[in-house]
Amino acid sequence: MTSPDRQKLKTMTDALRRGGRLLGESCPKCGGVLIQYQGRTFCFNCDNISGIEKIPVISPIDIESRLKSLASKKIEEAARQLENETDIEKQTHLAELLLKYIDMLKKVSKPEKTGKSKED
Ligand SMILES: [Zn+2]
Repeated sequence: MTSPDRQKLKTMTDALRRGGRLLGESCPKCGGVLIQYQGRTFCFNCDNISGIEKIPVISPIDIESRLKSLASKKIEEAARQLENETDIEKQTHLAELLLKYIDMLKKVSKPEKTGKSKED
């Protein structure tokens, strides 16, 4: 005899092992157990958690590149605003903001490798 619940439980345990976590609250629809995995919330009863394994794991590299593009966008925005700003006080704020984003961009960017990698 196979129990679908047992299969579900196994899937859930696997997800938890790979970084998922149990939420303290229960499902508003059925009161079932909720788990969070890769930024999404799943209900043990309502959701088809068997597909949970196919969700790609977010790698630190993805986060890094996302932060990089966010910082670049914000730098551009702030720079554009600063260009048109005549109020000294606002300019100071924008300049500070700009520096913070530049700092953030520097921090998420990995230091350049000194040795050139061979391209073949
Ligand atoms: Zn539910």
